[in-house]
Amino acid sequence: MKLVDLEQKVFIPIVDESKGGATYEVQMSVAEVFEKFFEGNTPEIVEAVPVVHGRWVRQNGSAFVFKCSACGFKFAGAEIANYCPNCGAKMDRSAKK
Ligand SMILES: [Zn+2]
Repeated sequence: MKLVDLEQKVFIPIVDESKGGATYEVQMSVAEVFEKFFEGNTPEIVEAVPVVHGRWVRQNGSAFVFKCSACGFKFAGAEIANYCPNCGAKMDRSAKK
């Protein structure tokens, strides 16, 4: 599967037959392209967001206090979560001592 951004602006060449085939460009979003040129035949829409990656940074020698490298949220506990509960960053970078 390949994803497209429906909000991305693109330039579409238009041929004006009434002016002898003169061409010009219009700017529209990818969503507008689907509406205009593919009436009723739009692809399946899924919502996606970029994945933010981070790591838990150990605080001042404390064994149980960590800070999210993405948003600064502090977390205290013996179990380290795979995601930041504050910003949702995926904690797949190794923890720093
Ligand atoms: Zn965070």
